[in-house]
Amino acid sequence: MVTNREGLLVVLSGPSGAGKDTVLRRLLEVNPNVTLSISATTRPPREGEEHGKDYYFLSKAEFVQLISKNGMLEHAQYCDNYYGTPRGPVEEGIQRGHDVILEIEVQGGEQIRKKNPEAVSIFILPPSMKVLSHRLHKRGTESEEIVEKRLATARKEIEQADKYDYVVINDDLEDCVRDICDILSAEKKRTTRSGKLIEEVLKNE
Ligand code: 5GP
Repeated sequence: MVTNREGLLVVLSGPSGAGKDTVLRRLLEVNPNVTLSISATTRPPREGEEHGKDYYFLSKAEFVQLISKNGMLEHAQYCDNYYGTPRGPVEEGIQRGHDVILEIEVQGGEQIRKKNPEAVSIFILPPSMKVLSHRLHKRGTESEEIVEKRLATARKEIEQADKYDYVVINDDLEDCVRDICDILSAEKKRTTRSGKLIEEVLKNE
């Protein structure tokens, strides 16, 4: 069987509390072709977070050095910290045929859309602001001040959702994950990604 060999570059954004982490964890379980890019950040680790697994936790100097070596696919400042996507592993994953997911905020999403027009961008919405506020307070890992700041940021981010290719609501986890799998599956069949495939079919007489 002939298949398209390159994987997809996928941007997944959504406000803090939209449930991106849970959605991603489930997506990785149900879709073996998906891999997740591990970001670099200057924010301190939360309890239970591990260097090299959840994030690469870097100093600001280390972060800036990576940018200057063209080692970041995109980077942005978010809530007083820097976040960025290390370039190498993403490009290697795509070459190997994996769909590589960047779980990033909207400024980074915009950079990727500009520099990589072939990328697929998906925005995860919470069912409502009320549900979002409830989820953020329930998490209890941050102070009230930070939660309020994240809610204000969330509102601004949701206003950017219409710049994305797709919008999915995370109300029911399984529905949301199925929606994302459907999007990835349809994107692979786009004619713009099927040039080689059409050639190979024609050659195979
Ligand atoms: P958190 O501090 O809650 O882990 O992440 C805060 C925000 O930073 C989230 O919206 C998350 O998607 C975003 N983020 C995580 N990694 C990256 C990255 O590599 N680049 C960009 N631009 N945003 C990121």
